[in-house]
Amino acid sequence: MYHAKAMHAVTHERSTAADVGSRHKICRLCRAQLATTFVDLGMSPLCQSFVRGDQIDRMEAYYPLHVLVCSECFLVQLQGYVAPEQIFTEYAYFSSYSTSWVEHARRYCEMVVARFGLGQNSQVFEIASNDGYLLQHFLPFRVPVLGIEPAANVAEAARRKNVPTLVQFFGLGLARRLVSEGRSADLIIGNNVLAQVPDLHDFTAGMAHLLSPQGVITLEFPHLERLIDEGQFDTIYHEHFSYFSLITIDRLVRNHGLRIFDVEQLASHGGSLRVYLCHTDSGHVTSSRVCALMAHERQIGFEDIGSYARFAVSVHNTKRQLLSFLIAAKEKRAKICGYGAPGKGNTLLNYCGIGTDFIDFTVDRNPYKQGLYTPGMHIPIYPLSAIDEARPDYLLILPWNLKKEIAGQMRHVSEWGCKLIVPIPTVEVIDPTGVAL
Ligand SMILES: [Zn+2]
Repeated sequence: MYHAKAMHAVTHERSTAADVGSRHKICRLCRAQLATTFVDLGMSPLCQSFVRGDQIDRMEAYYPLHVLVCSECFLVQLQGYVAPEQIFTEYAYFSSYSTSWVEHARRYCEMVVARFGLGQNSQVFEIASNDGYLLQHFLPFRVPVLGIEPAANVAEAARRKNVPTLVQFFGLGLARRLVSEGRSADLIIGNNVLAQVPDLHDFTAGMAHLLSPQGVITLEFPHLERLIDEGQFDTIYHEHFSYFSLITIDRLVRNHGLRIFDVEQLASHGGSLRVYLCHTDSGHVTSSRVCALMAHERQIGFEDIGSYARFAVSVHNTKRQLLSFLIAAKEKRAKICGYGAPGKGNTLLNYCGIGTDFIDFTVDRNPYKQGLYTPGMHIPIYPLSAIDEARPDYLLILPWNLKKEIAGQMRHVSEWGCKLIVPIPTVEVIDPTGVAL
């Protein structure tokens, strides 16, 4: 059944841009018909559907990674092919395995406690709170917190850190229930969750309903400008339905009586925005940074449908560059291993067709992934110690956004002359001892 479905979709996705509109794909934000391709990465399995050894000979479900951009509101988006319940109820991603991300969360908590005067009488909610990597940092300040996380296995890890966590998807329904129980939010945190929300309006309406009159929402999400400028096509996967600019966020939140009162540009996840939202009529003063970034986005063409076409060209170029490098290295009999098995790695591997013909295996710190195979390309995932045993010539860094952290952890591989390959935005070969930490 999956095979038939996949073949059917392949035929569809090779049709012309004009045909896309005739299939009545509808914009998730403004309901206009979608007709313009942003990039088409072909067919790919779900990036978190790691395969066990006993499943390796079975068929796998492949879905289109065909990203469209709306000519009315300019939201870059992927159609939802898979129900979130299928993706997120048992999740292999534990935020705490990235030490730099946990540190990012700690600094954020200290900043918001000071900036908004949070204390024992405040209520902080985090949506998609994962394993409590962030909310744990409020505990020393005695700020009451509640995590909301749909994946029961990661929620359990949060509870072990004394972070109370509801196993739920967030939306207006849950917000109404919490408000009816007398709760309201002084702070709602949503880090890297908005992209994964199929119903943006239900989610945003829920945040607005739960937010106290002077409360604050902070959302972090990868910035579309960075994705385009740095060719970060591997951050596109089925779990990420939407790719935001400040212009599209502004349009979304205005629909729900919210306004953006501040914005920061962050280095995390290849370049993210942190937006601060409040009720339209609340007392928070709007920073000049909001207006400045909106003007910048207009200036670089984010309200011009024609300017989105350049992205696909740079993606094709990156694929050719990476494959040329790997082919040349293999011709010289180099031994290449991967580092990491993040979701983004699977988009890269599947789109470029990189399997065990190039990479012997990859390694990951997350024991949940060790012993499994990457979806689609079936590259085995081992513990880190496998690198020291194999002594490869190159390590292909799949979570390239953590390249400094990884270079710091893997400096010892230079003892046998091993170099690191960073695939994006352009292929870069680095000596781990030469990376400034
Ligand atoms: Zn739209």
